Amino acid sequence: MPRYESGPSFVGIKFCQECNNMLYPKEDKENKVLLYACRNCDYKQIADNNCVYVNKITHEIDELARIVPEVIHDPTLPRTKEHPCPRCGHKEAVFFQGQSRRAEDDMRLYYVCTDSKCTHKWTE
Ligand SMILES: [Zn+2]
Ligand SMILES: [Zn+2]
Repeated sequence: MPRYESGPSFVGIKFCQECNNMLYPKEDKENKVLLYACRNCDYKQIADNNCVYVNKITHEIDELARIVPEVIHDPTLPRTKEHPCPRCGHKEAVFFQGQSRRAEDDMRLYYVCTDSKCTHKWTE
């Protein structure tokens, strides 16, 4: 088994195995994991834990305090309108999976309010 660096991991763009279109990250609410889904056909794959969809955030991401508010401007992060900000009620948030080494945190999703005056961070 290869050992992974603990630094930030960047995932290259993934392509659909069926139709070769770009895959987009998508939230699986039941299982609280990130999926990559094709918008052209029904193809989906689960994002594996070594390919967390975060590229601006350093290791030890298990603490919300370490999430930089600039992530709201990151065009590679998926957005959701179904998780309103608990602080200001803004209806759009970016979200991503944590990179914690601790197994119980692996599947946790973090949300950041995209209102630039708020940028409240929370997790479920
Ligand atoms: Zn496809
Ligand atoms: Zn907010």
